Amino acid sequence: MKISILGSTGSIGRQAVEVIQKMPDFFEIVSIAGGSNVELLREQIKLLNPKNVSVKSEQDAIKLQKEFPKINVLFGDKGLVDIASDKTNERILVSVSGKAGLKPTLAAIDNHIDVALANKETLVMAGDIVMSRAKKEGVKILPVDSEHGAIHQCLSNRNEVEKLIITASGGPFRNKSIDEMKNATVEETLHHPRWNMGKKITIDSATLMNKGLEVIEAHHLFDMPYEKIQVVVHPQSIVHSAVEYVDGSVIAQLGFPSMHIPIQYTLTYPHRFEGIETRSFDFIKAGRLDFDAPDLEKFPCLKLAFEAGKKGGTLPVVMNAANEEAVFAFLDKKISLWQIFEITKNMMENHDNILSPSLEQIFDIDRITRESVKKLTKI
Ligand code: MG
Repeated sequence: MKISILGSTGSIGRQAVEVIQKMPDFFEIVSIAGGSNVELLREQIKLLNPKNVSVKSEQDAIKLQKEFPKINVLFGDKGLVDIASDKTNERILVSVSGKAGLKPTLAAIDNHIDVALANKETLVMAGDIVMSRAKKEGVKILPVDSEHGAIHQCLSNRNEVEKLIITASGGPFRNKSIDEMKNATVEETLHHPRWNMGKKITIDSATLMNKGLEVIEAHHLFDMPYEKIQVVVHPQSIVHSAVEYVDGSVIAQLGFPSMHIPIQYTLTYPHRFEGIETRSFDFIKAGRLDFDAPDLEKFPCLKLAFEAGKKGGTLPVVMNAANEEAVFAFLDKKISLWQIFEITKNMMENHDNILSPSLEQIFDIDRITRESVKKLTKI
C-alpha cells in the first residue's frame, strides 16, 4: 500500500508512523508533511525515506532541501495539496489539525485517492461538499476517529439502522462540579483521563465540544439524521461506539483505548493484521462498563453542536472556527474554560446562516469568525 501522511509530526501522525514501521512489507511511504517541528520531521525523513516532504514555512523548506538534496521539499498549504494530489498514492492519511485538512482532502478525492481522515474539521466545515464529491468519484473516506471507526465496523445495512450510539469518556470534569469546571486551569483541562492526544482536541474533550464535532462528523460520514445519533458517556472508553438496528439488536466495537488500532484499521482496510497491538482484550480484566447520559448543563458545547448540525449551512463553520480560536485563547490563558462556550454561542447567535454555501463562502465565514474571536480575546 503506497501511502502519504499529512501531519506526520502530530499525535495521530506519529502513531501512524509507529503502525507503518511494524508492517514494512505492507506499506510504502510516498510523502510526509509536518508542521513546524522540523527536528522530528528530519528524523522521520531518515526513517521513512519519502519521495516528497512538506513543511509549514518556506524558510524550513529551504533548510531541509539543502540537507536532503534527493528529496523534493515543498511547503505551506500548497505543499499539502501537491502531496495529496500525487496519484502515486493509494491512500492518504489526513491528520493535520484544524481547517488545513479540507483542501488536501478535496485534492485527494479529485485524484481518486482514498482518504483515511483524522481531521474532523473537514467534515464539520464542508461535510456536504466533501461527502458528495467522494461519492461521485467513488473515493472511500475512512474515519480514523475511534468512534467513527467503530461505527464503520458495526454498520452493515444503513437502511435498517435505528440509531448510532457515540460513546464519550466524559473528560476530566465528569465528576467535578460545574463551578470547578468553570474555574479550571489549563493544566487541569489538559489532563485527560483516558486518551493521550494533541492539545486542541484535549480541551475539546474536556468541554465535550469534541463529542459535538463528532456528532456532526457522524452525520456526514454515515448520512444519518441528527435525531438518530445519541451520545452516551462511558468513562472506561472500552466500547468505542455502537449501532442499534431496527430489530433492537445493538452491535458495538470494543477494545483498549488506543489510537493505534483505529489508525491501523483505516490504513489496512479492508484487511486486518496483527500489527502494532499485541495485547489481547480481556473482558474479565475490563471488569465493568458504565454508561450515563451527558450533563448538558455542564457541557453546553454539546448542545451547541447538535443545534449547529441540525440547522446546517455555515453555522457549523462558525461554531468550529469560534471554538478553535477560543480554545487557543484559553491555552494562552487569556480566557476561562467557560468562556469558550460563551464566545462560541455568541458568534453563532450573531451569524446570518447561509444554507448550501460554496467552498469560498465557507472559507470566508471561517476567516471572519476567527478574526472576530481574536479581536474579542485580545487583552
Ligand atoms: Mg474521537
